[in-house]
Amino acid sequence: MNFDQARFSREDVYEPLLSEKDSTTVEVDADGVLPDDLTRDELTLPGLSEPQLARHYTRLSQMNYSVELGPYPLGSCTMKYNPSFTEDVAADPNAGVHPDRSDRTIQGTLGLLHGLQEYLADIGGMDAVTLQPPAGAAGEFTGILIAKAYHEARDDDRSEIIIPASAHGTNFASAAMAGYDVVELPSDEEGRVDIEALEAAISEETAALMLTNPNTLGLFERDIVEISEMVHDAGGLLYYDGANFNALLGRARPGDMGFDIMHYNVHKTFATPHGGGGPGAGPVGVVDELAEYLPSPMVRETAHGYEQYEPESTIGKVHGFAGNWLVLVKAYAYIARLGDAGLADASAKAVLNANYLASQIDLEVPYGPFHHEFAATSGDRDAADVAKRMLDYGVHPPTTKWPELVSQAMLTEPTEVEDKASLDDLAHAFNAAYADSDEALETAPSKTSARRIDQVSAARNPRLSWQSLDDSE
Ligand SMILES: *Cc1c(COP(=O)(O)O)cnc(C)c1O
Repeated sequence: MNFDQARFSREDVYEPLLSEKDSTTVEVDADGVLPDDLTRDELTLPGLSEPQLARHYTRLSQMNYSVELGPYPLGSCTMKYNPSFTEDVAADPNAGVHPDRSDRTIQGTLGLLHGLQEYLADIGGMDAVTLQPPAGAAGEFTGILIAKAYHEARDDDRSEIIIPASAHGTNFASAAMAGYDVVELPSDEEGRVDIEALEAAISEETAALMLTNPNTLGLFERDIVEISEMVHDAGGLLYYDGANFNALLGRARPGDMGFDIMHYNVHKTFATPHGGGGPGAGPVGVVDELAEYLPSPMVRETAHGYEQYEPESTIGKVHGFAGNWLVLVKAYAYIARLGDAGLADASAKAVLNANYLASQIDLEVPYGPFHHEFAATSGDRDAADVAKRMLDYGVHPPTTKWPELVSQAMLTEPTEVEDKASLDDLAHAFNAAYADSDEALETAPSKTSARRIDQVSAARNPRLSWQSLDDSE
């Protein structure tokens, strides 16, 4: 692909709001339906035809970028393409059951939930799984509350959670929200857990160590068995952040490495939609000893069919009912369709793709050998500028400036779904952007529908509708 073919460049297009296209005042007659002081007599609406509407939304969609359009190599996010058959399964009218129905009348629903509990337990090497948490971060919080309940039940008052400095920000937040002090662990010069520093950090205050493996640089923690023994010998628990599970899927299990608790990001690893603010799911798996603390309800199989039950010492609820049901349906469909061999194939290709892409780019990758993702560095060029410029070459850029261990990091995770041509497109975008002039980088993106936005104001002072933008002027 060359520069002139940027796939989502729509700089020439301004698509007006529907209300800017047309405002028609219509009379409404709500007499007798609602109290008079709550109703209006007139309403201003866009008076548009169906084709006008269809074109409006199609134009908007063409100003956007998505994983259905091209690669989306955001490191740590595992933005893999979501196969559409999972949507068909979730759209089955039988999937639309009311959550308050009695167990007897929703055996199929409960069977699916039970099946997913079992699939995930098997894939992670865990003994029991709750499907309730609605995201990875919520799964972490749930897992840490379970660790807390476990220690409290043993009258073992512990105040600290150890987390590597390279961990995802949600790990620190989850530990702090559960009331723990966070002990930050430095990395060794190879980018892995520093065993000596870990030794020094562990004490009888250690409630848990949170780790992801491979870590956020894509490096496998080779000393995981030793790490696990160190934590367990001190009476602590080992928590697995499952966001990087795509690297190990079908090949290695956190449970076998000694982890006691883990969350799964089904919207990363198991190809359910991710981003855009839609619902996700962050199921949590635990070893036998912790199963009694899981959130309620869980689903079990009895001689009379499936039933929901409350674990003996449950930490309570972390979400309504069984969790984000339709997301769980999609995860189930994905796992069932791929099977053992398909899951193992996914992780193999995820690792191969990351390694192929890294071999094709001119940027240095300081740490390795890596698995499903790598942290390249843009050296003396600003990583955010290079990323913005990559947009002009028609691809989505990687995660930038994180983890901090690599200066000007470009954390790149192509996932298994990309073919060689698409990886070559990505490499071209990397290399061309990296080699561009300072001016091109500082003014990028110049070929997209939205130019460089003020990210700090957007985060600190969000305006969530065009009306509030209007009001402020
Ligand atoms: C994405 C991610 C999380 C948080 O998961 P969400 O589902 O986004 O809440 C936690 N840890 C790591 C390493 C992640 O990449």
